[in-house]
Amino acid sequence: MENKDFKIFIDFDGTITKVDVGSAIFEKFGEPDAVADVIERYLNDSITAKECWLLLCDSVKELDRAEFDKYIESFEIDPTFHDFIKYCSENKFEHYVLSDGFDYYINKIFKREKLENLKFYSNKLLIDGNNKLMPLFPYLDEESKSSANCKHNHIINHSSDEEFTVYIGDGVSDKETAQFCDFIFAKDDLLKFCERERITFFPYRNFHDVIKRLDDLRTKKRLKKRHRASLKRHEVYLRG
Ligand SMILES: [Mg+2]
Repeated sequence: MENKDFKIFIDFDGTITKVDVGSAIFEKFGEPDAVADVIERYLNDSITAKECWLLLCDSVKELDRAEFDKYIESFEIDPTFHDFIKYCSENKFEHYVLSDGFDYYINKIFKREKLENLKFYSNKLLIDGNNKLMPLFPYLDEESKSSANCKHNHIINHSSDEEFTVYIGDGVSDKETAQFCDFIFAKDDLLKFCERERITFFPYRNFHDVIKRLDDLRTKKRLKKRHRASLKRHEVYLRG
């Protein structure tokens, strides 16, 4: 059986973790009214992801760092994710985590889960001497409004036109990105978006569902790439 070469890209918040850590930390440590308002404006596309993160960081006035770190440790990941990483390694499917959240908590959670070797791209979060949160956006691209870490640039950098790309996500920060991939696994807001926009996707609840489906796909005699994904990639090449 010929093995298909999949390149796999995985969102972090709400996909690997059970809940969205990025919004939960601000809901707990930011000014509640400001946070609710900012998140709503992001979800209805009135502000970009970068603007959203800047405003959220600003809404945190006096951060208790020990409390902050302890809270981060309370977030669980989907237990099936470990099986999925094993599956990717056994089958030599390259995989990357693409997050519009922050390295600060991703590092802590991956370390606890002994997944610190996973390659991930995210925004950065610094805490200065006055305990102010300072977000940095090393992968910002003005074309990517809903994710300050421009996820599709990472996808293009890490895959060729011949490879089958897979995206696994759950939310608004995935909606532009997922369209660059051949196979989209979607739940929650990303699922609703794909339905609304008539984008082909596989619904999933956990990573066991993803494994089952990928096993199915890789044994198909003829696997087709998604035409719309190729067009998306080429739009970016043309833009230079
Ligand atoms: Mg997410």
